[in-house]
Amino acid sequence: MGLYISAGFYIATSILCIAFLIYRSTKRYKKSKEYIVMTFLLWNLLLTGVIETLSIVLQFYNVPNLIEYQRVLAYIYFIIHTTLSPAFALYVLLVNGAAKNKGKWYFWILFSEMFIPEILVLINPFTKWVFYYEMVDGVLVYSRSFGMIILYIVAIQYLVYGMYYLIKTWSVLSNNYMKGYPFFLGIIVTGIIIQLVYPMIFSEALEVEAFFETIALVGLIATVDCNDSLVDLETKLKNGVSYKINIRLYRKYKYNYTVINIRFSNLKYYQNLLSIKANEELLKYITDTLSNLLPKVEKYRYSNNTFIIILPKHPLCDKYIKSLQEKFEKPLEFDNHVVYLQTVISVAKVPTDIDTVDEHIKILEIKPNVDKQVTIVTGEGLTFVKRHSLVDAAIHRAIKEKSFLVYYQPIWDKETNSIISCEALCRLIDKDLGFVSPGEFIPLAEETGAIVALGNIVIEKVCKDISELRFQDLGIKYVELNLSLYQLRNENLADFILENLNLYNISPQMINLEITESRDLEEALGFNNFIHSLMAKGFAFSLDDYGTAYSNITNVSSMHYKNIKIDSSILWKSIKDPNTRQLLELTIKTFRNFGNDIIQEGVETKEQLDLVTNAGCNMVQGYYFSKPLPRLEFVEFVKKFSKENKRND
Ligand code: C2E
Ligand code: MG
Ligand code: MG
Repeated sequence: MGLYISAGFYIATSILCIAFLIYRSTKRYKKSKEYIVMTFLLWNLLLTGVIETLSIVLQFYNVPNLIEYQRVLAYIYFIIHTTLSPAFALYVLLVNGAAKNKGKWYFWILFSEMFIPEILVLINPFTKWVFYYEMVDGVLVYSRSFGMIILYIVAIQYLVYGMYYLIKTWSVLSNNYMKGYPFFLGIIVTGIIIQLVYPMIFSEALEVEAFFETIALVGLIATVDCNDSLVDLETKLKNGVSYKINIRLYRKYKYNYTVINIRFSNLKYYQNLLSIKANEELLKYITDTLSNLLPKVEKYRYSNNTFIIILPKHPLCDKYIKSLQEKFEKPLEFDNHVVYLQTVISVAKVPTDIDTVDEHIKILEIKPNVDKQVTIVTGEGLTFVKRHSLVDAAIHRAIKEKSFLVYYQPIWDKETNSIISCEALCRLIDKDLGFVSPGEFIPLAEETGAIVALGNIVIEKVCKDISELRFQDLGIKYVELNLSLYQLRNENLADFILENLNLYNISPQMINLEITESRDLEEALGFNNFIHSLMAKGFAFSLDDYGTAYSNITNVSSMHYKNIKIDSSILWKSIKDPNTRQLLELTIKTFRNFGNDIIQEGVETKEQLDLVTNAGCNMVQGYYFSKPLPRLEFVEFVKKFSKENKRND
């Protein structure tokens, strides 16, 4: 009975292997080493299934010279099957990055041990150390010898070895791996247990090991093997998801390598312009250029217009960069269109120039030099990446410790000749980096999303200061509070501000929300509704940095801003340039006619002050009156200003 069941399992093994060999032949990424090793594993089990089925069929029909046939089949079986476990270890090494940067010697040492079982099997005809057949009372009996233990030890050792590398990189493996590998191990062990326990209960052998090994592999195929979602559909190169997984693994193994990023910043423009066929040719030109230049190295298409090459160790890659530059500097022709690819090539050594995944991604955003067709950034040009990491760490420290400071810059009102308001400006003074300019940390916090937590700290501190420092008693009618678009996207913002106002018993009129004009702002979904709902709750809005970007008088006037803050750059330019001056004066007059208050930013001199006030500007902020001041100094300044003001009156 056991023999028939075993035959059934072997047939099922063979069918499953055939099915999955066919299935995998449809996969996108077949050139990889791991694809080859997995194919080898499936072929290995297919042969095992066929040989063992044949062996059982021969026994069933009790063919003449059975013992000779069985011997031959047994030898083929052992020679093939003993390679299974080392091949699995190799598969893990390839998939989880452990094999990268390892020399040939490493593989020779690692895999030399697998020749021991092979040699034992090859000399078995003379030694019978592994197994032997004999006829006992006309029945063929198969017996195992002590050498079999060595075979098992070697097999288990490779299994353990593969597992060791898996556990080592467990934390950086994707979810799929975490499902696939425990399944794999669980099924293998179940197979071994059944094969061992079944004879103890039913007094006959049951050969299910190969079947369970196949099922285990099927689990790996379904979860991690040649995952099509890791491959770019058009170029068949690995994609951005794969890149991120791999650089995490390489970091875990502390590999040294050089990464060359090639980004075509205007590719989208040509993709829209060219026909589908010409687009394919253009993409082929790019991929062929990269492949011909560096045939055997790892290449990725990180995103539509970004390609990445990873070179093992730290080679001198000047000549590659020069060739890349030559290839992409010359005008290309597709579809009768001349294509000038604007290319940014950055070359970074890992881990000296860049190290973390964020840093790898950061350098992909380097902007092209518009005067050049190919911009090359290396070494010194990459120091900003490390600086970003340092500032990012400082931001997170300051969020954790709530150590951001809020400075206040007075805003002067012409009509009352008093400090009527102030702008709250965030300050970061880090224990390692010292003073970090908002121009540096605010955009970074916006990029990483830390702006929401940072902004909340500013809101808390401003509300606390309004109450504790008695701003109202100082004559401050409201505080200008900067909000970035990213903060506005946070649905809880209004509630958070209201909670803090309630906590300190302050009315919403004490806060003016400052937002900067941008096209993004106009396009932000539901933005107008959001502003109007906050207005209904009593908040007023100021438009910051007017004149630097996109807004024009028509769309600004429709938004019901209370204050329009004109950017300092316009003022500074208008001192030298009569046309800008006319524009500034006209802008001030028009908004005043619309009923808006105007705050001119960046007033540093008497000349500038006179220029804007004569044009009708009613409020002024700038170094002419004061720089942004720490909270207590600000209070002192306002007190002193109003005292002197009264005296002058
Ligand atoms: P902003 O809102 O336009 O703030 C005005 C900036 O101009 C401030 O720079 C201020 O110190 C500077 N300034 C004021 N008067 C003069 C002057 O007479 N001459 C010169 N040269 N500069 C003057 P700061 O504090 O470095 O802030 C830069 C930007 O960072 C701000 O521009 C604002 O967009 C952003 N920011 C600052 N604090 C926050 C905050 O808490 N939240 C958000 N979301 N953004 C903030
Ligand atoms: Mg502002
Ligand atoms: Mg401004």
